[in-house]
Amino acid sequence: MSKILIVEDELAIAELEKDYLELSGFEVHIETDGTAGLKAALEEDYDLLLLDLMLPGTDGMTICERVRQVKNVPILMVSAKKDDIDKIHGLGLGADDYVTKPFSPSELVARVKAHLARYERLINSNVPQNEVIEIRGLKIDKTARRVFVNGEEKAFTTKEFDLLAFLAQNPNHVFTKEELFRKIWDMESIGDIATVTVHIKKIREKIEMNTSKPQYIETIWGVGYRFKI
Ligand code: CA
Repeated sequence: MSKILIVEDELAIAELEKDYLELSGFEVHIETDGTAGLKAALEEDYDLLLLDLMLPGTDGMTICERVRQVKNVPILMVSAKKDDIDKIHGLGLGADDYVTKPFSPSELVARVKAHLARYERLINSNVPQNEVIEIRGLKIDKTARRVFVNGEEKAFTTKEFDLLAFLAQNPNHVFTKEELFRKIWDMESIGDIATVTVHIKKIREKIEMNTSKPQYIETIWGVGYRFKI
């Protein structure tokens, strides 16, 4: 059963919305204060928010903006003034729909159902996840090509990233410098395998706590490198 939060200070309106939504099979909770409404919206798991614009405590716009920063849940804004609706629409706060008071309860229910259906399709669709390799404090997001060390992002050049990602996705495998050079740099490029050494050094400076005692990329003397997991 979908759970809906109504934040509305006019209790008669809130009760009316609640009655109609409950008749349609929804579970409904009412908050009459904006600040309490924001808290409930952030802390609890609602499937849709119905927000009045003018509220004691925190206003509907602020609630919408704050919730949208962390949740994708559908938000319907309700206001008595058409002008206000036009104004907030222009602010791009991330509300999904706008309803002007007085509204017909059946229209409100229809809109709520439409947004819930859309939201369900959205969360059930297979949103492709970023391909991420996480080993201890190191996080390599291969899709976004970003590297984080204990939550802190480190800047990587293209080749540094390619080299680190290649080693990390082939853990415990010892690669020679020649193999790494062929793999990461163009076959045609006339390069020096010392390039690999230089890049490993730069990567270690970014990801290792102590570059003389690397915990990720291990040097196998006389052979090459291995990514330890
Ligand atoms: Ca109000």
